Amino acid sequence: MKQGISVIFRLIGLLMILSVSSAGFCAQLILSEEERAWLHDHGQELRLGVAIVPPYMLVNGPAGELRGLSWDYIKELEQRLGIRFNPVLASSYGEMIRQVRAGETDLVYGATSTPERRQFLTFTTPYGRLETHIFVREDHKGSASMETLAGHQVGVVQGTALHEFIRNNHPDILIRSYPDSSQSFLQLSAGEVDAVVTSVSTAFAYTQRNGLHRIRMEGPVGLNYEMSFGVRKEIPHLTSILQKALTAIPEAEKDLIAQRWFMPRDPGKVDKAMVLRYLAYAGVVIGVLALVWLTWSVRSMRREVSQRRDAEGRLAFLAYHDEITGVLNRSGFMHQLTAPNEGGRWQLIFVLGLDQFRAKNEIWGQRIGNEILRRVAERLQASLGTQGVVARIGGDEFGVMLKQLNTLPELMIKQLLKEIASPLLLGDGSVQLVTATVGASLIEDHADLDARPEQPLERAELALKYAKRHQRGSAAFYDASMSGNESRDQHWKEALTLAIRRHQLFLEYQPQLCLRRSKVIGFEALVRWQHPDQGRISPAEFIPWAERFGLISALGDWVLQTACRQAAEWRKQKLPFDYVAVNVSVRQFVEAGFADRVLMILEQTGLPPRNLELEITETLFMGDLETVRVTLDKLSGHGIRFSIDDFGTGFSSLMYLRQLPVETIKLAQEFVLDMATDASNYQIVRGATHLGHSLGMGVIAEGVETAEVQQALRELNCDMVQGYYYSRPVPASDITPQLLESLAQRAGHRQEEVV
Ligand code: C2E
Ligand code: CA
Repeated sequence: MKQGISVIFRLIGLLMILSVSSAGFCAQLILSEEERAWLHDHGQELRLGVAIVPPYMLVNGPAGELRGLSWDYIKELEQRLGIRFNPVLASSYGEMIRQVRAGETDLVYGATSTPERRQFLTFTTPYGRLETHIFVREDHKGSASMETLAGHQVGVVQGTALHEFIRNNHPDILIRSYPDSSQSFLQLSAGEVDAVVTSVSTAFAYTQRNGLHRIRMEGPVGLNYEMSFGVRKEIPHLTSILQKALTAIPEAEKDLIAQRWFMPRDPGKVDKAMVLRYLAYAGVVIGVLALVWLTWSVRSMRREVSQRRDAEGRLAFLAYHDEITGVLNRSGFMHQLTAPNEGGRWQLIFVLGLDQFRAKNEIWGQRIGNEILRRVAERLQASLGTQGVVARIGGDEFGVMLKQLNTLPELMIKQLLKEIASPLLLGDGSVQLVTATVGASLIEDHADLDARPEQPLERAELALKYAKRHQRGSAAFYDASMSGNESRDQHWKEALTLAIRRHQLFLEYQPQLCLRRSKVIGFEALVRWQHPDQGRISPAEFIPWAERFGLISALGDWVLQTACRQAAEWRKQKLPFDYVAVNVSVRQFVEAGFADRVLMILEQTGLPPRNLELEITETLFMGDLETVRVTLDKLSGHGIRFSIDDFGTGFSSLMYLRQLPVETIKLAQEFVLDMATDASNYQIVRGATHLGHSLGMGVIAEGVETAEVQQALRELNCDMVQGYYYSRPVPASDITPQLLESLAQRAGHRQEEVV
């Protein structure tokens, strides 16, 4: 108490000295007549785009309220202008920018002024600055700069100024876009991208939050974030009003905001400089008011101390726990794995990865995504009870370890996958289906565990990768051959490189027919590999290798060139057909310069663009949709057609189908093969055909092996067919007018005539 009173007296002394000079600290806010009138008319209806951007740009406080550096500035502006913005919450930063661009909001915060954004926004001067850098895994060889990253995959948050900067200034960098930095760092950690570019503070926050330690900071990006308010160009008044209000915020206040978020202080000490600034700001207030103010201020400081203590307690909790689900995080999981044990040692560890979680998050938004994570964590905990430890060890991955195995681990995991897959009724009344894939590792040698505690988790993660590659929704147990992948990879990489060079690859063509016209209309080109020792290797096997080894562009270009040359040749021979269809893998499509290479190949081979169809897959739309759209538009603008291969097996969303220039959907053969005998597949084919037609698209069914299936498709009004019933893929030399004639006859047959 005595100490408190002496502080108060000392502060009153200071107050008296400072009160004389304090008036000059506050710049005045003077609006023009016109601006005032505009504000009066529109001030209450301004829509402010809001996205959560940790760690302090804008975040949710403990009670879900908005707080952060930008939020403080927003509040300052509201107070000074006597208005209240209407926040429009966006699911990601990129979405926030999209909204303002589309006119769905009037302004955004925390935006760097860039050439592309200046086309639709005007900017205030920046109110904050964030340094940006390149981040790589610790095992990255050598140092990384924007130049050395050419040809590498780099993760960056969609819609940000960095995204635009790299796109325009470093076209050789292969951009992978993510909705937030959490995703980029998880992908970096998983080895899916080679580097991530983001602000230093964001990197720090996310690597801490996700428990990622093996990440290193490298060179600068060349563009730092300058946080400004961006206002739709159509309302220039608002920019000048906000600019004046920003300028009117006293420097001392700006310092305070910066200190609050960038340099949190030791809560136990009273900082004299801070108190001086408070006093200067309140300069003209006389002694009595000062006493009132000081009493309030001491109280609020106490309150702050106690809030900070709460926050510290929470931080300690978060060091080992996941904020969203409340279960352990990766650090907590490792801690438990290596902690001295009661009740025996760990027997089994497994990693459960949610299938297509990213897509769910993108489609339904982060709130639903988080609820799914919470519910899956609950299911896991409920199912394992006290026997198992559950942790969220990555964006969509849960780690589980068990000491006692009461049943065969395979059976236990199978049962668990079944439980996870049962429908989830969420708080908003929607029902979600979530499936998962598991990679597991039995801990047999505990000496190994003591020597390298991370080994079992690494093995389980390897097994998960394996399981995902082979069959999503299944479980794989680690075995030593999975670790041998690297040398095997090297072997196949060399073999495939040689195969491309030494012409061990060749194409076969499978006819596609129009059911209504009963005639062949196109050919799908399918690549084959005749290995000198191993014989034929299926493209389903080697195309994924080519993607993984970075050979897909070379291989894809070769396929395109060969198919286009062949089709041009058929045209010369006056063979009647509309197009040759070429499969394009996702990695190939998103490689820089893909569209230009396709156009160049068409020119070189002399095939008119309308005679080329590219078969793309739905997974393409799970990445950077904007970049994909640019390429699609460019190619379709030249007359090239697109079809969506394996439709129904991936990420189907009407949203993208409506927006993109795609002519045909190609129903996956897994539904078509037995549709004449399997009622549920029949219904899927029926629904998808209907959907395609309602969107004005053509529908082709592949995998037609019998007359019954042809008949069923005809009745459903399916437009086109492809399958062994007509012809297997054959060498180009087999495609003759006689073959086309006999196939046309076959497509013209009705079922009763055949059987
Ligand atoms: P896809 O694009 O779905 O190709 C259709 C596959 O189904 C082909 O297998 C084809 O031979 C087979 N098929 C066609 N009709 C029938 C039928 O009636 N019954 C059955 N059971 N199967 C039928 P293939 O040739 O082994 O190709 C496998 C996959 O490899 C392709 O699947 C495609 O994803 C990929 N692929 C093939 N060539 C290329 C290529 O040049 N580039 C890329 N990126 N991928 C390719
Ligand atoms: Ca295909």
